Amino acid sequence: MKITRARSWVVKQPARKIDNQLKIKDRGFVFIQVDTDEGITGWGEITTYPGPVANRAISAYVDQIGSWLVGEDPEDIERIWNKIFRGMTYVGTRGATSAAISGIDIALWDIKGKMLNQPVYKLLGGAVRDKIALYCHPPEPENPEHITKHAKDIVNAGYKAFKMDPMMHHLHVGNSTFLDGEISADAEEKAIEIVAAAREAVGPKIEILIDAHGLYNVPTATRLANRMADWNIFWFEEPVPAESWKALKQVKEQVKPLISVGERLHTRWEFIPIFENNLADFVMPDITWTGGITELKKIATMAEAYYIPISPHDASGPINVMSGAQVMMTVPNFYKLETSRFDLSYYNEMIDKPLNIKNGDLYLDESPGIGINLNEEYLAANEIDINRPIEYDPSAD
Ligand SMILES: [Mg+2]
Repeated sequence: MKITRARSWVVKQPARKIDNQLKIKDRGFVFIQVDTDEGITGWGEITTYPGPVANRAISAYVDQIGSWLVGEDPEDIERIWNKIFRGMTYVGTRGATSAAISGIDIALWDIKGKMLNQPVYKLLGGAVRDKIALYCHPPEPENPEHITKHAKDIVNAGYKAFKMDPMMHHLHVGNSTFLDGEISADAEEKAIEIVAAAREAVGPKIEILIDAHGLYNVPTATRLANRMADWNIFWFEEPVPAESWKALKQVKEQVKPLISVGERLHTRWEFIPIFENNLADFVMPDITWTGGITELKKIATMAEAYYIPISPHDASGPINVMSGAQVMMTVPNFYKLETSRFDLSYYNEMIDKPLNIKNGDLYLDESPGIGINLNEEYLAANEIDINRPIEYDPSAD
């Protein structure tokens, strides 16, 4: 079998209501399609942020790399992974390159599963569990009343854990900015009130995960985490920007809550200092950014050797969720898999069957590959022209 084409799709899903919340903005996705001369197509995903710019940039990047894949045997997943990774050394192997590899790698595993008529988890060592525990997000909380309503909705849907950024309300340009790492006194008090309201709403047994989005300096992150410990938060995620593991070390050594990092760490190499310096209690790589199915399995095994649980990150689409679930079916040290909302029915128009979620758990079946296929008619109808100039809105999805 030979690869005949590897291409990206940037698609826009118009704004709609998601779990009773009017999600006002359009939502963008980047999907990868790899075709073969035997008629088998594999699907991958990258979807990154800030969507309107980053999705278009990574799409162009993948389409250029795609020319390298034509004529390759899609079964040579490890070799193709290394061909791209080493080939793009001068551009930088982690970030855009690892994201491009991720989308392609997921599609290649999908092809291999379809070729062998097996789900990917059976090709990765087989299942160690029969379902994948999920955690999800409320809409980012605006005030205590807001989180009270949405936290109860999540628990009523059967979830045992959810994640929120109670500081987000004070950010006006999205969650990917950092200047001084400070938070105003007013915003901090409101964040604490939101955490208290969330705990009050869901009782003592639900795990409340806090995401700081790598936005704070060492003293601010330390103070926020320790104040929130009073409400028994389950973890405090990305307290500081990802570039300095020494800053993370300072925080880790001073805070009571457990620490989780990893969505901005790409490939196994960037997890070495995390494990070697005891910098995290959980790791949360994103399968569509860190290097795909191949790399997530390797990072999970590294974490296993340190008795650190792994909890894949997801802030994107159905391929991310399903490919992450395929890997986690085989991973002993799995905690929970992230999804963006408890109601993922907005994926249904782009895939061939809904994700099978019951009471906060995702169930995989024997479908080959990653277990779902994208709807090409939907992609074609919703594709955006990446060469058309856009107005930059960094807060847009
Ligand atoms: Mg996060």
